[in-house]
Amino acid sequence: MTGRLSTDDGNSFRRMEFYQYQERLKRSAAEKNHEFACEQGIRHLINAGQITPDFVDSICAHADLIRKLSAKRETANQLRELLSHRRAMLYFTQPSTRTFLSFMAACQILGLTCNEVRDPRTSSEVKRESHMDGIRMFSSYFDIIIMRTPSPEFAESCAYLMNDLASLGKRWVPIVNAGSGSDEHPTQALLDVYTLKRTFQFTDRSGSPGRFVDLQKSNPALIQGLSGKTYTFCGDIGRGRTVRSLAIVLSQYENVRMVFVAPAWKSLQLDSMLRDRLQRANVDVHVVDSLDAELDHRPLLGQTDCLYMTRIQREYDSGDDSREIEKLDLSPFQLTAERANRLPRWAAIMHPFPRDSHVQEIPESVDTNPRAMYFRQARNGMWARAALLVHIFGIGAELESMAG
Ligand code: ASP
Repeated sequence: MTGRLSTDDGNSFRRMEFYQYQERLKRSAAEKNHEFACEQGIRHLINAGQITPDFVDSICAHADLIRKLSAKRETANQLRELLSHRRAMLYFTQPSTRTFLSFMAACQILGLTCNEVRDPRTSSEVKRESHMDGIRMFSSYFDIIIMRTPSPEFAESCAYLMNDLASLGKRWVPIVNAGSGSDEHPTQALLDVYTLKRTFQFTDRSGSPGRFVDLQKSNPALIQGLSGKTYTFCGDIGRGRTVRSLAIVLSQYENVRMVFVAPAWKSLQLDSMLRDRLQRANVDVHVVDSLDAELDHRPLLGQTDCLYMTRIQREYDSGDDSREIEKLDLSPFQLTAERANRLPRWAAIMHPFPRDSHVQEIPESVDTNPRAMYFRQARNGMWARAALLVHIFGIGAELESMAG
């Protein structure tokens, strides 16, 4: 999706810079994603459409393995050898806590050296260097560029720049989109599905399947895995990049129902492009206006397997947004402790974080609810991102050989 932000979005992105890529940018994901692929799988991770169920399985298996190997000093030291000859640039010119730190931790787990640019005022951008020149310079010193910017088009344009360099026989490096404006956040989708896959095994802490057997006795329709589930997304659906990316990944699983719960203001609601895309993938899509709504004459919350909460993304307010959003009653979109208890006992409460401490879409009183997964979800980001680096650098077989 392009053009979601204004051309001057506070970080002085000039649309002209991407002019040479316009024709390529405006194609559908299906038309362009092969350009971000390579023989071993993903070359640049730009959008969630690249994340297939097979790719999810391989990332989850590797994330579990890295998690296990990291627990012992000897194998943790061996992990740090895997990419000790590589360097990563973390170019994060939009605020970030979890994504930045978990990517940095993932690099450290695998021994990659990291460097960062977080404030473009400390780079040559202030000397009117173009963003594209800046990126090409990073590619001279580093072996991968992980980037978060306010522009929906920047990471993708950088991938085209790298591909053009590659076809000229020049040095290029992989690009990873760590959040592109209000458009996409594919690595968040990866850690979200990793968390969901672990949660929907329904095992207890020891990993034994007894809990699933137990749950199935009272709910014979319950199955393990991501298929056959109801995913309810609540909050800023229109501008929440994590919602868009996760919905795109989940839409590839069988028999999925998605419910979008958003306040009555157009920029916060499900847009027709995403809706059409999900419906084309056979997702059963519903839109409601409160967490207390009913679906097929039964309470929505009681039928929800995963409740994905989000904050209202005020940084993207434009036009009438600020005035109209201030007037909204957000209480129907708050997960109170009482509402959380109306979810099935196996349900997962997720949130990409940060949560808004003023709006309190999830108050702290929910944190002790056994369904609350959001702190685990954040930690899983480190393992899932380490597994992504393993994939991009093509060292899956080496990692697996460490398992003995
Ligand atoms: N951390 C997530 C993101 O970068 C969610 C949010 O900011 O609300 O999109």
